[in-house]
Amino acid sequence: MKSILAAAAVSAASIGGPASADTIEIRHNGETPALIGAPNNFTGHAVINPMYPPNDFTRSNVGLVDFSPGARTTWHSHPAGQMLIVTAGMGWIQEEGKQRSVIEPGDVVWIPAGVKHWHGATDKTSMSHIALTYMKDEKNVDWLEPVSDEQYHYAKEME
Ligand code: MN
Repeated sequence: MKSILAAAAVSAASIGGPASADTIEIRHNGETPALIGAPNNFTGHAVINPMYPPNDFTRSNVGLVDFSPGARTTWHSHPAGQMLIVTAGMGWIQEEGKQRSVIEPGDVVWIPAGVKHWHGATDKTSMSHIALTYMKDEKNVDWLEPVSDEQYHYAKEME
């Protein structure tokens, strides 16, 4: 069993996983620098705080994303799904072809594999969520076209 765990640890380490498979690891806040969301993948100002990289045990990339008012992802999908846990502010999420939904702190969202969607702040509030984005074949997102201002604001008339 020990050798199996050790082999798994080597594999996990190759994609940034834990140094050890049999002891607790603490990644202290701030150990991994925050990044500004790339303009190709975000509209407006978003800050990505990496929390924990994917490995063979957790199988997801974990990060905290802070969206300024008006900021959102582009349309995208996830090959193995994504879980969002809203931690602050108020935001919006929309699945293609469906009505936009409000998300608030404490809300938990599961986005199944292959579902086209976007998420972000509302036009008047910031929003922060922790995202657990699951890996498939070393990939966890397929980025698509930006969410236009018309698409972003559209649901307002329907509320
Ligand atoms: Mn997503």
